[in-house]
Amino acid sequence: MAVRVIGLGSAITAAESLAAIHVVAEDGRCAWCWDEFGIWTPHPCTARQWADRARATVERTGRADT
Ligand SMILES: [Zn+2]
Repeated sequence: MAVRVIGLGSAITAAESLAAIHVVAEDGRCAWCWDEFGIWTPHPCTARQWADRARATVERTGRADT
C-alpha cells in the first residue's frame, strides 16, 4: 500500500474509522472486508493493522508517519 503524506488529524480520523468497521467476525475473518469486498481476510486485516499501528504511533510519538 502506498503511503501518502496526510495531515495528522485526517490520519487519526482515517485510522479510527477504519478500526471501527474492520472488526472481527465469528469465524475470525474481517467482517468489513468480507461484506464490502467479498474477500475472506483473517482479522486483523491489513487495513486494521495499519489503523492500529497508526493510532499507536500517534499516541507514542504524536506523529502519523507510518
Ligand atoms: Zn478489513
